[in-house]
Amino acid sequence: MLKGKVAIVTGGSRGIGRAVCVKLAALGADIAFSYAGNEAAAQETKAALEGLGVKVLAMRADVSCGEAVDAFFAKVLEDFGKIDILVNNAGVTKDGLAMRMKEADFDRVVDTNLKGAFLCCKAAARPMMKQRSGRMINLASVVALRGNAGQANYCASKAGVIGLTKSLAKELGGRGITVNAIAPGLIETDMTAVLPEENKAAMLATIPLARAGRPEDVAEAAAFLAGDGAAYITGQVLRVDGGMAM
Ligand code: NAP
Repeated sequence: MLKGKVAIVTGGSRGIGRAVCVKLAALGADIAFSYAGNEAAAQETKAALEGLGVKVLAMRADVSCGEAVDAFFAKVLEDFGKIDILVNNAGVTKDGLAMRMKEADFDRVVDTNLKGAFLCCKAAARPMMKQRSGRMINLASVVALRGNAGQANYCASKAGVIGLTKSLAKELGGRGITVNAIAPGLIETDMTAVLPEENKAAMLATIPLARAGRPEDVAEAAAFLAGDGAAYITGQVLRVDGGMAM
């Protein structure tokens, strides 16, 4: 149970982030989530969470912008008084072969996926260090471990998230803060809905469990890492991929 805990989830309006918000709220956590600009999706998530009887804050806040991150975390501390759990979920893709990839597309993906996670971990670290407890959970990806043609920017950003996770686990462990990553495989969300069918079929053929994952599959892993049962686990990368990246 997470009753009495305060969880921040970045990119909580849709997909995996929404499922994580719903799972943590179902376990009793109060939830503050950010999003990039999809107001309708954010309101839908907010209503679902309020229906679970927890306190909710939904705030538009670009994770790649330090000022926006600081304003979001300040508002969370003002409204909720503490931060127990941080799930760095906000992420984007801008796929293309490296030879043709625009510098701006490389920067956008790395700034959102990697710098965004860094900025949020940094903002959460101070209050968590003060209370000498905290859980940070960063969304990586199995492609960070294996590489993927057409995703040099995305794979680099997610490999960076794993390095960030392990470094922070070493820096913050002495203060009772665990830092772990989740590496999902192919999960059915808006992000993967745009992939060509033949690419998805090729990926599915490599998954021993013979299906794509659901956002809820990833949310279960996040809830585990956020819960008491994971108190002695830090610096790890938990694959939620149906066996894809063994
Ligand atoms: P998604 O359906 O595309 O949703 C992305 C979420 O991130 C949305 O809530 C979006 O907000 C938010 N977001 C995007 N840029 C942001 C920014 N700059 N600041 C704040 N929020 C931002 O993605 P998903 O598939 O659920 O993926 C969630 C995470 O899992 C990502 O980190 C992704 O890389 C990772 N992942 C996904 C898969 C997969 O197969 N789906 C596999 C491995 C890893 P708006 O709604 O406002 O746009």
